[in-house]
Amino acid sequence: MSSGPLNWDQYLAHAALTDIGMRRANNQDSYAVVMADTMEGWFERGHIFMVADGMGAHAAGELASKLAVDGIPFLYHKYRDQSPPEALQRAIIETNAEINRRGKANSDFYNMGTTCSVLLLVPQGAVVAHIGDSRVYRVRGDVLEQLTFDHSMVWEMRAAGSLPEDGDLARSIPKNVITRSLGPHVNVQVDVEGPFPLEAGDTFLVCSDGLTGQVEDDELGAILANLPPQEAAQVLVDLANLRGGPDNITVVIAKVMSPQISTAATRPEPLTVGGDKEGRAVHPGMWIGVGVCFLAALVLWMVTTPLVGLLAAVAGVIVLGIALLMQFGGGRGGIALGTGKRLGRGPYVNVQCAAGDAFVKKLTEIVNRLRESVVERQLNIDWGNFNHACERAAEAQQHGHSKDAVREYCRAISTMMQELRARNKKKASDSSVL
Ligand code: CA
Repeated sequence: MSSGPLNWDQYLAHAALTDIGMRRANNQDSYAVVMADTMEGWFERGHIFMVADGMGAHAAGELASKLAVDGIPFLYHKYRDQSPPEALQRAIIETNAEINRRGKANSDFYNMGTTCSVLLLVPQGAVVAHIGDSRVYRVRGDVLEQLTFDHSMVWEMRAAGSLPEDGDLARSIPKNVITRSLGPHVNVQVDVEGPFPLEAGDTFLVCSDGLTGQVEDDELGAILANLPPQEAAQVLVDLANLRGGPDNITVVIAKVMSPQISTAATRPEPLTVGGDKEGRAVHPGMWIGVGVCFLAALVLWMVTTPLVGLLAAVAGVIVLGIALLMQFGGGRGGIALGTGKRLGRGPYVNVQCAAGDAFVKKLTEIVNRLRESVVERQLNIDWGNFNHACERAAEAQQHGHSKDAVREYCRAISTMMQELRARNKKKASDSSVL
């Protein structure tokens, strides 16, 4: 692996997209993708992918999420002397304080807040830092896992055992009530998860609830597993919009393309946490002990035999040596993370997401409704690409190739949505028929 500017696409493909949705007047979501410039830079500090979903009156939500996606990567890179999980946590805590300060300083921004989901990819694996109900997922093979815990009323009550699954109570709690966010309070508790070792093919998704409110986990997984990141990002946004798009939608996808950057291949030094580079303060008792030993040595030398005094002096030197080592000797090494030892309690959700017949059927219905709605309104659009994708999908379905069918139906959806956007943004956003 060479140094110098690096095109990451062959190792790690990524895509990011944010969309206002169909109902909102402004987009309060923000995202950041900060890639290392070189392989060495990646080994040291990794790549950052993050989503922040702002909340607050007028422009406050937009400002809060913008402060998060600007401040956190900047501060993370500033604290190079700390291990990546600790630098990330500190960056978030300090950014929280800054958002809080700005919220208090100007009544327009009073009580502004934002969610914050950060995916940090380092050679040791995926490290996730998270507050709120945006989410980080990983798809490996046919399994989708949610690596983050939603800080929402529903999830917190369920975790506390006070919310029966699928009961009326669960349905009555609004999904958008969140219990933790950046900004409203001076202090914030950050969930840190990982590292989850990287394997070739692993696909990560960081997204706001504008996506997950409209698209089910198994659908997310089937799309992420079968489409390249750029196409997957677009069709996820399209699906959320076709289902009403009630909220802003933000999608950031990162996919490990090469086994060369898998954790097994790079064999990095383990990440450590709880280390103490500055050395720690020595308990005053140690210094008192040193004094007592030397005083005893002096007294014993004078009143008994020099040999006993010498023994006490040796003890004093040993205690002094230990105290000096503790004070200046570089501190503790910390806890090494890795096999069997990681931060957090994730993954919190694990679902099978094979591209099966049921999902193909669902996509077929969406495509058919889309076609009918366009025909009904007599919109003048170019049907070529849409029809070709539909034909390929139907053929794949006939031959039992569900994955190809999913891919082609998704392409049909995105093609049509693009046509509609290009033709007339206003009409594309009128999804009442769908
Ligand atoms: Ca939202």
